Amino acid sequence: MTSYPDAMSTASLDASSTWQQRYGQSLMGVFGTPQDLLVQGRGCWVTDADGRELLDMLGGIAVNALGHSHPALSRALGEQLQRMGHISNLFASVPQMRLAEMLLSAAEAPAGSSVFFANSGSEANEAALKAVLRHRHETGKSRILALEGGFHGRTIGALSLTHKPAFREPFGDLIDGIEFLPFNDADALEHRFDDDVAGIVLEPIQGEAGVKPLAPEYLLRARELADQHEALMVLDEVQTGIGRTGEWFRFQGVNRTLSALGSPGIAPDLMTLAKGLGSGIPIGALVAFGSTSSTLLGAGQHGSTFGGNPLAALAGQVTLETIQAEGLLDSVSAVGARLAEELRALPQTAEVRQFGLHIGADLVLPDSISAGDVVACAREHHGLIINATGHATLRLAPPLTLSHEEADEAVARLAAALTRLTKESA
Ligand SMILES: *Cc1c(COP(=O)(O)O)cnc(C)c1O
Repeated sequence: MTSYPDAMSTASLDASSTWQQRYGQSLMGVFGTPQDLLVQGRGCWVTDADGRELLDMLGGIAVNALGHSHPALSRALGEQLQRMGHISNLFASVPQMRLAEMLLSAAEAPAGSSVFFANSGSEANEAALKAVLRHRHETGKSRILALEGGFHGRTIGALSLTHKPAFREPFGDLIDGIEFLPFNDADALEHRFDDDVAGIVLEPIQGEAGVKPLAPEYLLRARELADQHEALMVLDEVQTGIGRTGEWFRFQGVNRTLSALGSPGIAPDLMTLAKGLGSGIPIGALVAFGSTSSTLLGAGQHGSTFGGNPLAALAGQVTLETIQAEGLLDSVSAVGARLAEELRALPQTAEVRQFGLHIGADLVLPDSISAGDVVACAREHHGLIINATGHATLRLAPPLTLSHEEADEAVARLAAALTRLTKESA
């Protein structure tokens, strides 16, 4: 029998074993070795086991919409847990209905629209894909379109829609009939869309690919072609939804642009949400627009034991209420714009793509330095948490509660890290 360290201790009390060793001996190696051991968080700041405070510009990968330990969320969840935490979907709860109503209202969804709750982004996409497969099966169509560079999750259905070969290929055959189109290429879209297409699955801004937006005109054309060929348009707003871009959902920002161009707006048939929705409590959602989309999955054709349980649904409800009460959509736009301006002023940035607090920055670095090195240096020497999505691309997705001062502080810390690294390599 192996003896494990004191289960209640956070750091390695036993000087002979580090927390990294302890992690490696008990957790599956799929994530590699984590960067640090965190014990506490408040707002946009986290504290590690050595007592260092770090400015969190990643927010649990675009998840901690209200920051860490937001008092409204802690209070509501504590009270809810004392009342009841879980009841299964054999029973209804008020938070579940309330959150569904709030999402439909924020999405300006038409009559007959409805929500299915899951527990993650992958699961939300799994539900969307099942709806597309229902449509494909009913109509005898065979093709489903997705995009190169797209990321939709790690479960088998979501993975089948995800482009990156390194994620897919270790598993052999996945779901058949899914084809990847080149990103943002309207000609390819036009060319490859026909009556045999059952659905098209798109991230309005590709997050894992480095915050790359689809052109509003591209999304409009996809909408028109989907209508023309009776295909479903699925927008994966797992990362872009719930205020991240300064709108409740990215497609609404797209519609502002389209409207300024004198074009009609778009709405998806199906939209998936997760990351920011529960501010850290696991929850995902599939929003079906209109009654046809709403009835693709019939009674008994899908389900989830945990999905939308009172605790998770309340987390979503409090997240949406707090975003509204604290005016966060406006502040996300303002703070994000300032952040982008300051990032663009750094000598090491080539391009900065900014949509609210969804930010990708391409860096110009000496050959010997990668964005991953910048991430490590920022964390180790400057108390800053950021993320690399590519060899020379950084992603920032901080809490929506980020202040102007914290934005300034983050850029100052990043600038210091870049200076240190470029000096060291010189
Ligand atoms: C993170 C992400 C997912 C997967 O979400 P999980 O909760 O990790 O399953 C799917 N789609 C997009 C766009 C994402 O950013």
